[in-house]
Amino acid sequence: MTSQQSSQNAAPNRPLRVAVVGGGIGGLTAAAALVARGIDAHVYERGADLREEGEGMHLGPNASRLLLRLGLGSALTASGVRPNALEVRAFHDGSVVARQEMGQSWEERFSAPYLTLRRQDLHSMLSSLVPPERIHTGAELAGFEENAEGVRLWFADGRQEWCDVLVGADGVHSRVRRSVAGADAAVYSGNSALRGLVATADMPHLDPSLMYLYAGPSGRVLLYPVSGGTHFTYVVVTEAPEGDAESWTSVTDVSDLDALLAGWSSEVRSLIPAAGQVRRWALYDREPLDRWSTARTTLLGDAAHPMLPHHGQGANQAIEDGVALAICLEGAAKGADGIAAALSRYEEARRPHTTRVQLGSRADKPSQEGKNMSNNVNANVNWILENDVQANLNNNSNNIDNWNNGNNNSNNSNNNSNSNNGVDNTIANNLVNVA
Ligand code: FAD
Repeated sequence: MTSQQSSQNAAPNRPLRVAVVGGGIGGLTAAAALVARGIDAHVYERGADLREEGEGMHLGPNASRLLLRLGLGSALTASGVRPNALEVRAFHDGSVVARQEMGQSWEERFSAPYLTLRRQDLHSMLSSLVPPERIHTGAELAGFEENAEGVRLWFADGRQEWCDVLVGADGVHSRVRRSVAGADAAVYSGNSALRGLVATADMPHLDPSLMYLYAGPSGRVLLYPVSGGTHFTYVVVTEAPEGDAESWTSVTDVSDLDALLAGWSSEVRSLIPAAGQVRRWALYDREPLDRWSTARTTLLGDAAHPMLPHHGQGANQAIEDGVALAICLEGAAKGADGIAAALSRYEEARRPHTTRVQLGSRADKPSQEGKNMSNNVNANVNWILENDVQANLNNNSNNIDNWNNGNNNSNNSNNNSNSNNGVDNTIANNLVNVA
């Protein structure tokens, strides 16, 4: 890195230059939020093009409110679904045992919509917010070196870059995390998930304005609408011995699904002939980190806090990280000390909160200890859905994470106890802890 390139003092009025390594949901959100604030952000993605794997995802109001502010309202309306309710049904006969109303009432409750959508739809929306010349594909970070002047990056193809701030948004196997926080090991949860997409036309008994959860002795089946309701994503979580790699994309045979759902109602079993390609996802997380940042480098998303999917929050937390980081860097004082202070403010805002989400997701893992795997559907996640990281940072210069201290006033606030037409409504807010 030459001093001409790197020194803020050489060109005191130039915008901060931020290198975001990784063009997933977290990296693109960060880049979009940084660019929107006039920061010279660039994304370096190792893939030959920007692509997102996987089927569906839940977008909680904690993240959707941030994306609406980034201008994605019409795109989210076009491809997202706002489910009206979650129905918990008996695995053996499909009868409704509990129902959580969502839709408008949830939107009012949390001041932003709860959406389900394809992961790639969200990914393309986010990439549309980053000018193409700031997205560098085929750029696999091979190493970096930080000093008082900046950060020098080098890539597998030999190219070199520099920046004032390096953001590791490089996912669960993060190269940047290894340098910042040291090597760590994946922790197997004892669960794996079979998942895929099914056409709504192939399961005509499903209402595409609803989400469904069936919990039986061998697993939990969650079905939720995506792509404007033309398809459902299915996720079948079961106990399984460790064996698969820490991967989202291994393909398995539909006979696994058939065996798992033996004895389940025909309503659930109709998934089997319609299931298409079934992927197996061995569920790993990692221990929360003690630090995310150095003076000029930090982490976000799965690089910072790989978590189990039982709160449906991996991408949601990555989105919160991206916006929080942009707010902190926008407010950074000039020079190395200003950058270091901004990164430390960001980490203080995010690390305690994501640690709690990480550990909460782990605690909510389904197990066969009970009679069926519905044992965790009552976990209360209001404190996650209510979070507004942008308001917290803008309103509170000390940047307190309102939820740091464990208890909060929202616990049980939406637990309408008891029944409605014989249907238990006490599952308030459980739905993100099932996928
Ligand atoms: P990633 O999406 O992993 O992106 C990392 C990027 O970095 C990749 O593009 C990768 O190619 C790139 N990269 C890696 N190394 C390098 C390198 N050395 N140089 C350059 N680039 C590099 N979350 C939710 O919130 N709600 C859900 O409902 C939900 N459902 C899920 C369902 C499934 C099946 C899966 C698999 C995950 C789900 N998640 C969900 C989790 C969520 O998708 C992840 O937590 C989120 O995508 C993490 O985003 P990220 O940008 O941090 O990492």
